[in-house]
Amino acid sequence: MNRIYFDNAATTALDPDVFESMKPFFTEKFGNPSSIYSYGRETRMAIETSRKSVAKLLNAHPSEIFFTSGGTESSNTAICAAVHDLGCKHIISSPLEHHATLHCVEHLKNTGEATLSYVKVLPNGHIDYDDLEKLLKESKEKCLVTLMHANNEIGNITDIERVGNLCKEYDAIFHSDTVQTVGHFNLDLRKLPVHFITASAHKFHGPKGAGILYINENIKIHPFINGGSQERNMRAGTENIYGIVGFAKALEMAVKNMDEERDHIKEVRDHMKASLLKNIPGVHFNGDPDGQSLYTVLSVAFPKSDKSEMLLFNLDINNICASGGSACTSGVESGSHVISAISPASNQQTVRFSFSKYSTKEEVDQVIAKLVSLI
Ligand code: PLP
Repeated sequence: MNRIYFDNAATTALDPDVFESMKPFFTEKFGNPSSIYSYGRETRMAIETSRKSVAKLLNAHPSEIFFTSGGTESSNTAICAAVHDLGCKHIISSPLEHHATLHCVEHLKNTGEATLSYVKVLPNGHIDYDDLEKLLKESKEKCLVTLMHANNEIGNITDIERVGNLCKEYDAIFHSDTVQTVGHFNLDLRKLPVHFITASAHKFHGPKGAGILYINENIKIHPFINGGSQERNMRAGTENIYGIVGFAKALEMAVKNMDEERDHIKEVRDHMKASLLKNIPGVHFNGDPDGQSLYTVLSVAFPKSDKSEMLLFNLDINNICASGGSACTSGVESGSHVISAISPASNQQTVRFSFSKYSTKEEVDQVIAKLVSLI
């Protein structure tokens, strides 16, 4: 059996056209973008063209787009800047955030730089918006609200327009981790009431180690990394030119083909869901799979048994790649903080299957046939 890759929320395969766009910068176009002669001007131009393209696709201004090493760096930069530079001494977040956010806000709490509140989470994995408003209303300090757009483990989508409007009402700063949605949903940053968003190219068939931080033009922060004057003095260090070019190309392709790819991926995911219900007794789904949910992710809860406890391992030895929780903790299987927060007493074995434009219904059928023998 060929390898089946159903872990696209962890990372996606690099698109060959994206790779082609990056190649010249590994070879003949090697100049340092800070150099003033032709080699440097060539790579500088590639960076600024990429920035303009990304800004246009997100309906932002080029000066609002900063290239980074990915989602983790972008979120850390935004959250720390809100506390250090924008006067936010109270952070409101949720226990369902990615560790890139959770470990950062917990660090700021532990150092005493900010207090931390978690918004209540409903059993279907959505945040309680009334509780968010209550926390904002009762806060004695200026707040930073950091809530992700879509959850990487269960796929739930947060209404970030609603959150942003609440933040406006209570004069709070709003950062959203949009790593799972940029490239999969259209975001209009001229209209969306948000101060910071983050993205990572490897979630939409771009290269790893390349991301962006959007900083709204009305916000002024200090650099997170000090050194040279790259990224308009905001992020020192010689630029990851191949990554930047690859990020822009991957986003261009994702936005251009979004409707078609969404329809395809949705069909594959719906087929997986229907086939699981038909073939595996007692199976159910975490989150809100028929409501506000990513079309790329299906978080499946298998009834616990001696066999299902070995499921991830057995899928792996059968060449099926799926994940038990967030990619960052797989290999160190300590259980998912997301599943623990929404169903603390549950007796289930969760496997996250996540799909891309390369996934097929035939692959789903092969996985289902295997699951029937493994459960
Ligand atoms: N936020 C979310 C929701 C993610 O899924 C990930 C990646 O797993 C990250 C942040 C971290 O992004 P990166 O791998 O680019 O640092």
